[in-house]
Amino acid sequence: MNEQSTREIWKAVLGELQLQLPRPTFETWLKNTDGVSYDEDQFVVEAPTPFAVAWLERRMYNAIQKTVEKVTERPLDVVFRVRQGHEAENGSVTLTGQTLELESGGPGSGENDTAVKSPAQPVAAFYPKYTFDSFVVGPSNQLAYSAARAVADAPGKSYNPLFIYSGVGLGKTHLLHAIGHSAASRGLAVRYVTSEQFTNDFITSIANRTTEAFRQRYRSVEVLLLDDVQFMSGKEQTHESFFHTFNDLHNSGHQIVITSDRPPKALALLQDRLRSRFEWGLLADIQPPDLETRMAILLSKAKNLGVRVGENVIELIAKRVHNNVRELEGSLNRMVAQAELMSEPITVQSASRILEELTADTERHAIDPERILEAVSNHFRVGTDSLLARGRTQKIAHARQVAMYLLINELEMTPTQVGRLLGGRDHATVIHGAGKINGEINEDTHLRRDVLSIKEAIFA
Ligand code: ADP
Ligand code: MG
Repeated sequence: MNEQSTREIWKAVLGELQLQLPRPTFETWLKNTDGVSYDEDQFVVEAPTPFAVAWLERRMYNAIQKTVEKVTERPLDVVFRVRQGHEAENGSVTLTGQTLELESGGPGSGENDTAVKSPAQPVAAFYPKYTFDSFVVGPSNQLAYSAARAVADAPGKSYNPLFIYSGVGLGKTHLLHAIGHSAASRGLAVRYVTSEQFTNDFITSIANRTTEAFRQRYRSVEVLLLDDVQFMSGKEQTHESFFHTFNDLHNSGHQIVITSDRPPKALALLQDRLRSRFEWGLLADIQPPDLETRMAILLSKAKNLGVRVGENVIELIAKRVHNNVRELEGSLNRMVAQAELMSEPITVQSASRILEELTADTERHAIDPERILEAVSNHFRVGTDSLLARGRTQKIAHARQVAMYLLINELEMTPTQVGRLLGGRDHATVIHGAGKINGEINEDTHLRRDVLSIKEAIFA
């Protein structure tokens, strides 16, 4: 749509937000964003880093969405994505403008036209920073790394499928893109999709009666990279379709790589026969990195950012942040942003202050099941106790299913635990309830918005 007016709208939105937000927040997170396009459903905003995108989604989604709605006088959804300007400016790589899935499940995944239309993706579709070269290898990720390399070098020949699992922010998406990059640059037909994209694509093909084209699209690729399979819709039909896609690809010796936040056995909402397929090949997990690897990662990220950070600061960050490479990177980014803002170098002192702020943040955000129940009951205006009770007006039953979905996805509780928490319900009831939300969330904008704003309340 009209670029000028997109810019103007975004300028007006920023003007409003500037009045509402503390100055450092605005300067750090919003000043450097652009409104890039919009259509009748959504307004697309670009931010400079994956970290900024994640932060905006998590902390600002509601405020921004409301302001966009106010300025445009339309009920638009807001989608954040990472700006990919540099390469395009050099003219060396032409990017497809693809929305990359960098934070599992957030808005911004699944809006990718290019991926939907072309049978295979060009090298440029893969995030240029996520390569094998930029992946720091240590004992915690050695297996997954080697397997990913083997698969990229000889697709379909070594481990098929390769199933990589880990907690968030430990490099699964990075490795998938690295495989994609490597295989596509050798001319292989590669396709990267998040399971949400796969689901959307499938649903669209049913609606448009283009299921045959859908089938061709997926079955013609030589390497299929499916990210975050835990978000695959609970719908039977989607599983069925993936099951057939899987079999076709596997039978023709084509490579399949799947990632998940948990091993196949723990994927509660997945069909049994699909789960057993996943166990045919190699299961590789990634553990949180040890101290040395964390330091090596920080050094490499600082180098990529083109900033000098002292070894003592690197060590300080590496010692404080343990579990998650994304947070490690995020802490470094926050320090770099702050240092640039204040035109001061990063010292052990300033670094330590920022780390304390970040820790305070995470502690405040540590979530427990009660917090989720409370957020759900506030959002739907039903009493927390009615979520646990027997009664089931439609409204309460719906709120309860959203709670089931969030408890499983955000806290990784098992359906049995969730059932127990929710007044002694059967685990099958929980699987059904959470699966229903899981299946509808891709199609139902209202529901998606409900869930996002509950999540925002939970993590606020
Ligand atoms: P996941 O998909 O497992 O949630 P990502 O692949 O999105 O995690 O990784 C989060 C961030 O951490 C990315 O910016 C990624 O480049 C970085 N990262 C993770 N592991 C490594 C590693 N071993 N070396 C370098 N960067 C890493
Ligand atoms: Mg990921």
